[in-house]
Amino acid sequence: MKAKVSLCLECKEVVQGRADKKYCSDSCRVAHHNQRRIEESRSLRAVNLILSRNRSILLHFLDETNSEIELQSHHLSLKGFDFSFWTHQTNDSGGNTTSYCYDVGYQMLNTSKVLITRTID
Ligand SMILES: [Zn+2]
Repeated sequence: MKAKVSLCLECKEVVQGRADKKYCSDSCRVAHHNQRRIEESRSLRAVNLILSRNRSILLHFLDETNSEIELQSHHLSLKGFDFSFWTHQTNDSGGNTTSYCYDVGYQMLNTSKVLITRTID
């Protein structure tokens, strides 16, 4: 019978002991978890950056006097708006979905037209 050899997830050395052990030592286990945490906070920061940029782009088309505006969606795309990132969505009784980047939302009126709305407190 051949013993299954597992390699440390951190340093790739052979792990001695129990078959389900993932790390050769406590320091490798801690190092690996710390690295994971750093990577997670990096990707979270990247998502927050995209959401903030999306919000700025939406706000760019609204001025203080308007809480909503209709425009061609390509204006958003041209500014680098990423339609796949939003913080939350709401549905009205008519089945229309508004996607929000924090307090500013947009609703697709048809394939090329978008309605930007801002939540006023
Ligand atoms: Zn190790």
